[in-house]
Order: sequence, then C-alpha cells, then structure tokens
Amino acid sequence: MIYVIEEGLNGHIKIGYARRPDKRKLTLQNGNSNRLTVIMTFEGDPSLENKIHKDLSKYKIREDGEWFYRNEKVFAYLNSLSPIEPKTEMMNEEEFIVLWRDSEDSPTDYCPFCGERHTHGQGDGHRASHCALGNPFFTRKSDGKIFEQKRGYIVRTYKKAHNRRIHGDRRSGSTRERTSMACA
Ligand SMILES: [Zn+2]
Repeated sequence: MIYVIEEGLNGHIKIGYARRPDKRKLTLQNGNSNRLTVIMTFEGDPSLENKIHKDLSKYKIREDGEWFYRNEKVFAYLNSLSPIEPKTEMMNEEEFIVLWRDSEDSPTDYCPFCGERHTHGQGDGHRASHCALGNPFFTRKSDGKIFEQKRGYIVRTYKKAHNRRIHGDRRSGSTRERTSMACA
C-alpha cells in the first residue's frame, strides 16, 4: 500500500510503500522526535511509489529522501492517482468501504485502510474496523471521496455457512491470518 505519514501537526510528509503502513509508522516513530501519523493510505505497489517520488521530486526536502514539503499541489496530485478502486456500498444513505470474504470463517479481502486481512464473526453488516489504532487513517476513491477508518466498514460474505465450499483460497492469507484479530 502507498501511505502518507505526517510529522507533527501539519508538518512534512513522508510518502512511501509498505505492506502494513501502521507497522511502518511504528518503526519510523522510533527515530523521530515528533509524533507521526498515518494520514492517507491507498492501494499501490513499489512501482507506483517510484512514480510518485519522481513526479513530486520538486517538493522533496532532500533529493534522495522520501520526505516532502506539505503542499496543496502534492495532495492534489495524490488525489489524481487512480489506484485500485476500493469497493463501497450504501447503507442508511452513507457510503462505506466493503470488505468481502469467501465464507464466514475466512479472512476478508485486504483492508484498504491497513493492508491487512481481517477476521470477523458470523453475519454480514457494518463493523468497527479491526485496525482502529487511534490514527485518523483514511482512504479514498478515484473521485476523491474520503472514507475514514474510524467509521468502520461493511463485511460481506460470498458463500454462507451452509455451503461447504473448500477453503482453497486460504493459501494466500495463511501467513497473515495469525496477526488478524478474531472477534465479532
Ligand atoms: Zn484494516
């Protein structure tokens, strides 16, 4: 995932790639005297990270670094990128991110907020996000619409419990499941 981390309040920003932006932040925090906050995440790979660094090079603080001056144009550029569109759904006239899962005991798709796959109990519907770490995380759609992690997401299941489908899809998530929280 591509993440944007802010240093202090309205300070410089770091734009980079990490599989788990929240963990990257903790690592960076150890070497930084200011409080760091993940302020934006979206789907993307290291090649998108390279493109971003190149396109925003004139806003870089140091030529060889990943820290940028905070600037309206930087955010306008980030909002113009078209990464993988997060799935959403309307509920009570509000739009929420949707995490799909194969069956009620499989982990969800990768969460667009944190890059992790979450495990939830039975039943579909709105849930508090399992990656609520006290950060004002948000992600967005290509039209610029913002979704905040603290507002949670909707969990949907492709195959309900009575359907004994094989769990062949688990291989892709098996190493990540251990870190997922298993509660409703
Ligand atoms: Zn998450």
